[in-house]
Amino acid sequence: MIDVKARKVVALAGGVGGAKLALGLQLALSPGNLTVIVNTGDDFEHFGLAISPDVDTVCYTLAGKVDIEKGWGLQGESWNVLTALKALSAPTWFQLGDRDLATHMERTRLLQAGWSLSQITEHFCRLWGVSSHVLPMSDQPFRTLIRTQAGELLAFQEYFVREHCEPSVAEIIFQHAEGISPAPQVLSSIEAADLVVICPSNPWVSIDPILALTGIVPALKMKPVIAVSPIIQGKTVKGPAAKMAQELGLEASAAAVLGHYTDFVNGFIYDQLDGDIFTSDNYPGIIKKTTNTIMKNDEDKLGLAIETLKLGERLLENTQNND
Ligand code: GDP
Repeated sequence: MIDVKARKVVALAGGVGGAKLALGLQLALSPGNLTVIVNTGDDFEHFGLAISPDVDTVCYTLAGKVDIEKGWGLQGESWNVLTALKALSAPTWFQLGDRDLATHMERTRLLQAGWSLSQITEHFCRLWGVSSHVLPMSDQPFRTLIRTQAGELLAFQEYFVREHCEPSVAEIIFQHAEGISPAPQVLSSIEAADLVVICPSNPWVSIDPILALTGIVPALKMKPVIAVSPIIQGKTVKGPAAKMAQELGLEASAAAVLGHYTDFVNGFIYDQLDGDIFTSDNYPGIIKKTTNTIMKNDEDKLGLAIETLKLGERLLENTQNND
Protein backbone atom coordinates (compact mmCIF):
# COMPACT_ATOMS: atom_id res chain seq x y z
CA MET A 1 0.00 0.00 0.00
CA ILE A 2 1.28 3.45 -0.88
CA ASP A 3 2.48 5.67 1.96
CA VAL A 4 0.13 8.68 2.01
CA LYS A 5 3.08 10.92 2.94
CA ALA A 6 4.62 10.14 -0.43
CA ARG A 7 1.68 11.62 -2.34
CA LYS A 8 2.27 14.78 -4.34
CA VAL A 9 -0.39 17.30 -3.41
CA VAL A 10 -1.26 20.68 -4.88
CA ALA A 11 -3.30 23.05 -2.70
CA LEU A 12 -5.16 26.12 -3.96
CA ALA A 13 -5.23 28.83 -1.31
CA GLY A 14 -6.04 32.41 -0.45
CA GLY A 15 -4.72 33.85 2.80
CA VAL A 16 -5.55 32.94 6.38
CA GLY A 17 -7.98 30.00 5.93
CA GLY A 18 -5.96 28.55 3.07
CA ALA A 19 -2.64 28.87 4.89
CA LYS A 20 -3.96 26.91 7.89
CA LEU A 21 -4.77 23.79 5.88
CA ALA A 22 -1.63 24.25 3.78
CA LEU A 23 0.39 24.03 7.01
CA GLY A 24 -1.51 20.88 8.01
CA LEU A 25 -0.71 19.32 4.63
CA GLN A 26 2.94 20.32 4.94
CA LEU A 27 3.05 18.59 8.35
CA ALA A 28 1.35 15.47 6.94
CA LEU A 29 3.43 15.01 3.77
CA SER A 30 7.09 14.26 3.12
CA PRO A 31 9.12 17.48 2.73
CA GLY A 32 8.82 18.90 -0.79
CA ASN A 33 5.61 17.03 -1.67
CA LEU A 34 3.28 20.01 -1.22
CA THR A 35 2.86 22.81 -3.75
CA VAL A 36 0.59 25.72 -2.83
CA ILE A 37 -0.85 27.87 -5.61
CA VAL A 38 -1.81 31.20 -4.09
CA ASN A 39 -4.25 33.94 -5.07
CA THR A 40 -2.67 37.21 -6.20
CA GLY A 41 -5.93 39.04 -6.94
CA ASP A 42 -5.53 40.87 -3.59
CA ASP A 43 -2.09 42.23 -4.53
CA PHE A 44 -1.70 45.98 -4.60
CA GLU A 45 0.77 48.84 -4.35
CA HIS A 46 1.05 50.90 -1.20
CA PHE A 47 3.69 53.60 -0.60
CA GLY A 48 5.17 52.43 -3.91
CA LEU A 49 5.71 48.94 -2.50
CA ALA A 50 4.46 45.72 -4.14
CA ILE A 51 2.35 43.91 -1.56
CA SER A 52 1.13 40.32 -2.00
CA PRO A 53 -0.96 39.69 1.13
CA ASP A 54 -2.03 36.10 0.46
CA VAL A 55 1.38 34.95 -0.79
CA ASP A 56 2.99 36.40 2.35
CA THR A 57 0.40 34.84 4.66
CA VAL A 58 1.03 31.40 3.13
CA CYS A 59 4.84 31.78 3.19
CA TYR A 60 4.97 33.15 6.76
CA THR A 61 2.66 30.33 7.91
CA LEU A 62 4.65 27.55 6.22
CA ALA A 63 7.88 29.08 7.58
CA GLY A 64 6.47 29.04 11.15
CA LYS A 65 6.84 32.84 11.28
CA VAL A 66 3.21 33.94 11.17
CA ASP A 67 1.48 35.80 13.99
CA ILE A 68 -0.77 32.94 15.10
CA GLU A 69 -3.33 35.19 16.84
CA LYS A 70 -3.96 37.33 13.77
CA GLY A 71 -3.29 34.62 11.19
CA TRP A 72 -1.27 37.08 9.08
CA GLY A 73 1.87 39.20 9.53
CA LEU A 74 4.95 38.20 11.47
CA GLN A 75 5.27 37.00 15.06
CA GLY A 76 6.87 39.42 17.51
CA GLU A 77 6.39 42.30 15.05
CA SER A 78 7.09 45.94 15.98
CA TRP A 79 5.17 48.90 14.54
CA ASN A 80 7.59 51.87 14.66
CA VAL A 81 7.15 52.83 11.01
CA LEU A 82 3.36 52.69 11.27
CA THR A 83 3.42 54.89 14.40
CA ALA A 84 5.68 57.39 12.65
CA LEU A 85 3.41 57.37 9.58
CA LYS A 86 0.43 58.11 11.81
CA ALA A 87 2.27 61.14 13.23
CA LEU A 88 2.70 62.34 9.62
CA SER A 89 -1.06 61.95 8.97
CA ALA A 90 -0.14 59.34 6.35
CA PRO A 91 -2.61 56.54 5.52
CA THR A 92 -2.28 53.77 8.12
CA TRP A 93 -5.35 51.65 7.31
CA PHE A 94 -3.14 48.89 5.91
CA GLN A 95 -1.04 47.67 8.80
CA LEU A 96 2.59 47.23 7.85
CA GLY A 97 4.86 45.87 10.57
CA ASP A 98 8.52 46.88 10.61
CA ARG A 99 9.90 43.45 9.66
CA ASP A 100 7.06 42.78 7.22
CA LEU A 101 8.06 46.02 5.47
CA ALA A 102 11.43 44.47 4.69
CA THR A 103 9.63 41.74 2.71
CA HIS A 104 7.74 44.31 0.63
CA MET A 105 10.81 46.50 0.11
CA GLU A 106 12.95 43.64 -1.10
CA ARG A 107 10.16 42.22 -3.29
CA THR A 108 9.72 45.66 -4.89
CA ARG A 109 13.46 46.03 -5.48
CA LEU A 110 13.72 42.59 -7.08
CA LEU A 111 10.64 43.19 -9.27
CA GLN A 112 12.25 46.43 -10.46
CA ALA A 113 15.44 44.47 -11.17
CA GLY A 114 13.45 42.19 -13.50
CA TRP A 115 12.69 39.20 -11.27
CA SER A 116 9.24 37.63 -11.52
CA LEU A 117 6.95 37.28 -8.50
CA SER A 118 7.41 33.47 -8.71
CA GLN A 119 11.19 33.77 -8.62
CA ILE A 120 11.04 36.17 -5.67
CA THR A 121 8.65 33.90 -3.76
CA GLU A 122 10.89 30.88 -4.34
CA HIS A 123 13.93 32.89 -3.20
CA PHE A 124 12.20 34.08 0.00
CA CYS A 125 10.92 30.56 0.76
CA ARG A 126 14.43 29.14 0.41
CA LEU A 127 15.81 31.80 2.79
CA TRP A 128 12.98 31.17 5.27
CA GLY A 129 13.47 27.40 5.18
CA VAL A 130 10.06 26.53 3.69
CA SER A 131 10.14 22.92 2.48
CA SER A 132 6.99 23.24 0.32
CA HIS A 133 6.75 25.00 -3.04
CA VAL A 134 4.75 28.22 -3.01
CA LEU A 135 3.63 29.49 -6.42
CA PRO A 136 1.88 32.83 -6.90
CA MET A 137 -1.00 31.98 -9.27
CA SER A 138 0.36 34.33 -11.96
CA ASP A 139 3.30 36.61 -12.61
CA GLN A 140 1.03 38.94 -14.55
CA PRO A 141 -0.95 41.59 -12.65
CA PHE A 142 -4.46 40.39 -11.81
CA ARG A 143 -6.68 42.69 -9.78
CA THR A 144 -9.86 41.79 -7.94
CA LEU A 145 -12.22 44.76 -7.62
CA ILE A 146 -15.42 45.09 -5.63
CA ARG A 147 -18.38 47.05 -6.95
CA THR A 148 -20.47 48.03 -3.97
CA GLN A 149 -24.25 48.27 -3.96
CA ALA A 150 -23.74 52.05 -3.53
CA GLY A 151 -21.98 51.99 -6.94
CA GLU A 152 -18.43 52.53 -5.72
CA LEU A 153 -15.55 50.58 -7.26
CA LEU A 154 -12.98 49.50 -4.66
CA ALA A 155 -9.65 47.71 -4.97
CA PHE A 156 -9.90 44.51 -2.96
CA GLN A 157 -7.73 45.68 -0.04
CA GLU A 158 -9.69 48.94 0.16
CA TYR A 159 -12.87 46.90 0.58
CA PHE A 160 -11.33 44.24 2.84
CA VAL A 161 -9.06 46.23 5.14
CA ARG A 162 -9.87 49.95 4.80
CA GLU A 163 -13.67 49.50 4.72
CA HIS A 164 -13.65 46.38 6.96
CA CYS A 165 -15.86 44.54 4.40
CA GLU A 166 -18.77 46.76 5.47
CA PRO A 167 -20.08 47.92 2.04
CA SER A 168 -22.61 45.54 0.48
CA VAL A 169 -21.14 43.78 -2.54
CA ALA A 170 -22.96 44.08 -5.87
CA GLU A 171 -20.31 42.52 -8.10
CA ILE A 172 -16.84 41.01 -7.94
CA ILE A 173 -14.75 42.05 -10.92
CA PHE A 174 -11.55 40.41 -12.10
CA GLN A 175 -9.90 43.24 -13.96
CA HIS A 176 -8.16 42.26 -17.22
CA ALA A 177 -8.49 38.58 -16.23
CA GLU A 178 -8.98 37.34 -19.78
CA GLY A 179 -5.88 35.80 -21.20
CA ILE A 180 -3.87 35.99 -17.98
CA SER A 181 -1.67 32.92 -17.79
CA PRO A 182 -0.79 30.97 -14.71
CA ALA A 183 2.78 31.40 -13.49
CA PRO A 184 5.36 28.89 -14.75
CA GLN A 185 5.06 25.55 -12.93
CA VAL A 186 1.42 26.13 -11.94
CA LEU A 187 -0.10 23.91 -14.65
CA SER A 188 2.79 21.42 -14.60
CA SER A 189 2.51 21.04 -10.81
CA ILE A 190 -1.21 20.27 -11.16
CA GLU A 191 -0.42 17.76 -13.93
CA ALA A 192 2.22 16.09 -11.71
CA ALA A 193 -0.01 15.98 -8.60
CA ASP A 194 -1.71 12.86 -7.23
CA LEU A 195 -4.33 15.03 -5.56
CA VAL A 196 -5.52 18.65 -5.63
CA VAL A 197 -7.00 20.25 -2.49
CA ILE A 198 -9.05 23.42 -2.57
CA CYS A 199 -8.38 24.92 0.85
CA PRO A 200 -11.15 26.46 2.99
CA SER A 201 -10.54 29.89 1.49
CA ASN A 202 -13.16 32.36 0.32
CA PRO A 203 -14.53 30.73 -2.89
CA TRP A 204 -15.52 34.01 -4.53
CA VAL A 205 -12.47 36.20 -3.95
CA SER A 206 -9.62 33.84 -3.02
CA ILE A 207 -10.19 30.71 -5.16
CA ASP A 208 -12.17 32.07 -8.15
CA PRO A 209 -9.26 34.29 -9.30
CA ILE A 210 -7.09 31.13 -9.56
CA LEU A 211 -9.87 29.29 -11.42
CA ALA A 212 -10.21 32.24 -13.84
CA LEU A 213 -6.71 31.75 -15.24
CA THR A 214 -6.29 30.11 -18.62
CA GLY A 215 -6.07 26.32 -18.39
CA ILE A 216 -6.65 25.84 -14.65
CA VAL A 217 -10.16 24.31 -14.72
CA PRO A 218 -9.33 21.88 -17.59
CA ALA A 219 -6.21 20.80 -15.65
CA LEU A 220 -8.28 20.25 -12.48
CA LYS A 221 -10.81 18.12 -14.38
CA MET A 222 -8.03 15.60 -15.06
CA LYS A 223 -7.27 15.10 -11.34
CA PRO A 224 -8.90 13.91 -8.12
CA VAL A 225 -9.93 17.21 -6.47
CA ILE A 226 -11.18 17.72 -2.91
CA ALA A 227 -12.65 21.00 -1.67
CA VAL A 228 -12.86 21.88 2.03
CA SER A 229 -15.67 24.22 3.09
CA PRO A 230 -14.79 27.59 4.67
CA ILE A 231 -18.44 27.99 5.69
CA ILE A 232 -19.60 26.24 8.86
CA GLN A 233 -23.24 26.43 9.98
CA GLY A 234 -23.83 29.30 7.56
CA LYS A 235 -20.98 31.38 8.97
CA THR A 236 -17.33 31.98 8.23
CA VAL A 237 -14.62 31.41 10.80
CA LYS A 238 -13.23 34.79 9.74
CA GLY A 239 -13.81 37.19 6.87
CA PRO A 240 -16.70 38.13 4.59
CA ALA A 241 -17.43 34.97 2.57
CA ALA A 242 -20.87 34.35 4.15
CA LYS A 243 -21.88 38.03 4.11
CA MET A 244 -20.67 38.31 0.52
CA ALA A 245 -22.65 35.22 -0.53
CA GLN A 246 -25.87 36.68 0.89
CA GLU A 247 -25.28 40.05 -0.77
CA LEU A 248 -24.66 38.32 -4.10
CA GLY A 249 -27.96 36.47 -3.73
CA LEU A 250 -26.30 33.12 -2.97
CA GLU A 251 -26.89 30.84 -0.02
CA ALA A 252 -24.22 31.04 2.70
CA SER A 253 -23.78 27.34 3.36
CA ALA A 254 -21.38 24.45 2.87
CA ALA A 255 -23.80 23.09 0.24
CA ALA A 256 -23.49 26.34 -1.74
CA VAL A 257 -19.70 26.02 -1.58
CA LEU A 258 -19.92 22.52 -3.05
CA GLY A 259 -22.39 23.79 -5.66
CA HIS A 260 -19.83 26.39 -6.65
CA TYR A 261 -17.12 23.78 -7.28
CA THR A 262 -19.29 20.98 -8.64
CA ASP A 263 -17.83 21.07 -12.19
CA PHE A 264 -14.49 19.65 -11.13
CA VAL A 265 -14.49 18.33 -7.54
CA ASN A 266 -14.75 14.62 -6.72
CA GLY A 267 -14.65 14.94 -2.94
CA PHE A 268 -15.97 17.47 -0.44
CA ILE A 269 -15.19 17.94 3.24
CA TYR A 270 -17.42 20.03 5.46
CA ASP A 271 -17.75 20.49 9.17
CA GLN A 272 -19.30 17.87 11.44
CA LEU A 273 -21.35 20.68 13.04
CA ASP A 274 -23.31 20.89 9.77
CA GLY A 275 -24.41 17.26 10.12
CA ASP A 276 -26.25 15.58 7.31
CA ILE A 277 -27.01 18.37 4.84
CA PHE A 278 -26.89 16.28 1.67
CA THR A 279 -29.37 13.68 0.48
CA SER A 280 -28.25 10.91 -1.87
CA ASP A 281 -29.67 12.98 -4.76
CA ASN A 282 -27.38 15.96 -4.09
CA TYR A 283 -24.32 15.72 -6.32
CA PRO A 284 -24.31 11.88 -6.29
CA GLY A 285 -20.92 11.56 -8.01
CA ILE A 286 -19.14 13.55 -5.31
CA ILE A 287 -18.01 11.81 -2.10
CA LYS A 288 -18.84 13.95 0.94
CA LYS A 289 -17.27 13.60 4.34
CA THR A 290 -17.76 15.43 7.63
CA THR A 291 -15.04 16.01 10.21
CA ASN A 292 -13.79 18.77 12.47
CA THR A 293 -12.70 21.53 10.09
CA ILE A 294 -12.11 24.23 12.72
CA MET A 295 -8.36 24.67 12.89
CA LYS A 296 -7.45 26.29 16.19
CA ASN A 297 -3.99 24.74 16.54
CA ASP A 298 -1.45 22.67 14.63
CA GLU A 299 -3.06 19.43 15.82
CA ASP A 300 -6.38 20.48 14.21
CA LYS A 301 -4.56 21.48 11.02
CA LEU A 302 -2.74 18.15 10.82
CA GLY A 303 -5.96 16.28 11.69
CA LEU A 304 -7.90 17.95 8.85
CA ALA A 305 -4.99 17.37 6.46
CA ILE A 306 -4.91 13.65 7.33
CA GLU A 307 -8.71 13.34 6.82
CA THR A 308 -8.32 15.11 3.46
CA LEU A 309 -5.51 12.78 2.39
CA LYS A 310 -7.57 9.73 3.46
CA LEU A 311 -10.44 10.90 1.28
CA GLY A 312 -7.86 11.43 -1.45
CA GLU A 313 -6.88 7.75 -1.19
CA ARG A 314 -10.55 6.75 -1.68
CA LEU A 315 -10.76 8.96 -4.77
CA LEU A 316 -7.52 7.50 -6.15
CA GLU A 317 -8.81 3.95 -5.57
CA ASN A 318 -12.01 4.84 -7.46
CA THR A 319 -9.97 6.27 -10.34
CA GLN A 320 -7.89 3.07 -10.54
CA ASN A 321 -10.99 0.86 -10.40
CA ASN A 322 -12.55 2.84 -13.27
CA ASP A 323 -9.40 2.54 -15.42
P1 GDP B 1 -8.08 35.74 3.39
O1 GDP B 1 -7.62 36.18 2.04
O2 GDP B 1 -7.07 35.99 4.49
O3 GDP B 1 -9.48 36.13 3.75
O4 GDP B 1 -8.02 34.18 3.32
P2 GDP B 1 -8.84 32.97 2.84
O5 GDP B 1 -9.78 33.27 1.74
O6 GDP B 1 -7.86 31.88 2.66
O7 GDP B 1 -9.60 32.63 4.18
C1 GDP B 1 -10.86 33.13 4.52
C2 GDP B 1 -11.78 31.97 4.75
O8 GDP B 1 -11.13 31.02 5.59
C3 GDP B 1 -13.05 32.37 5.46
O9 GDP B 1 -14.13 32.06 4.61
C4 GDP B 1 -13.04 31.52 6.72
O10 GDP B 1 -14.29 31.00 7.08
C5 GDP B 1 -12.10 30.39 6.37
N1 GDP B 1 -11.42 29.85 7.55
C6 GDP B 1 -10.57 30.47 8.37
N2 GDP B 1 -10.19 29.63 9.36
C7 GDP B 1 -10.83 28.45 9.13
C8 GDP B 1 -10.84 27.19 9.80
O11 GDP B 1 -10.21 26.98 10.83
N3 GDP B 1 -11.64 26.20 9.26
C9 GDP B 1 -12.38 26.41 8.13
N4 GDP B 1 -13.12 25.40 7.67
N5 GDP B 1 -12.39 27.59 7.48
C10 GDP B 1 -11.62 28.58 7.97
